[in-house]
Amino acid sequence: MQDTEEGAGTLSPLDLRHTAFLLGAARPKQFPADDGWEVAIAGRSNAGKSSAINAITGIRGLARVSKTPGRTREINFFHVAARRRLVDLPGYGYARVPVPVREAWRRLIENYFAHRHCLRGVVVVMDCRHPLTDFDRQMLVWCDHARLPVHILLTKADKLSRGAATAVLHQVRARLIHEYPGSEAITVQLFSALKQAGVAEAQQILAKWMGF
Ligand code: GDP
Repeated sequence: MQDTEEGAGTLSPLDLRHTAFLLGAARPKQFPADDGWEVAIAGRSNAGKSSAINAITGIRGLARVSKTPGRTREINFFHVAARRRLVDLPGYGYARVPVPVREAWRRLIENYFAHRHCLRGVVVVMDCRHPLTDFDRQMLVWCDHARLPVHILLTKADKLSRGAATAVLHQVRARLIHEYPGSEAITVQLFSALKQAGVAEAQQILAKWMGF
């Protein structure tokens, strides 16, 4: 990655604390200008994506934490620093979503992945008790098509014992290597927003992809 742009190399991960909501987009023409650095976060609804965004930025309430799955249909853009954005991609649980809504979602996200030049990497949030759902696999396929690096957060790790969580980490890595050619480049970590575990590791990925 070219690191010669304004501000590059002078920021630290702590600058995530200045992250603020920029806009929500239901259509590609509402996206902000396609320049600088963008990192997207995706996850099936209720996986813990909003909690992860809040934990990683250190800003309570930045992304809405909700027990009602799939309430938001827009792509939410957050300003992180000059020309750096964090992008919250809408998630849902497959079974409950009507086909037209799912199709609109698919077109919006697929368009975003396929045409967004400033997108540098995608964080995929998975509940560590239910990793690699159909939703997650769709994300991995689109990231592969767009040749984007992927970092997987296995969230709610506090719900498992230390040994069980470590076993899931190894299983997910093994399944990725077995099932997805080229997936050696995908990184995976355990995460808990509740216990603030794995936050620094996730921040470092964002900082790297945003050219900090
Ligand atoms: P989203 O739909 O993916 O944005 O998920 P949310 O962040 O709204 O979280 C869904 C539910 O899981 C909420 O009830 C959260 O309180 C809970 N949750 C999220 N992260 C964690 C975590 O790390 N540990 C535990 N125990 N619960 C979590």
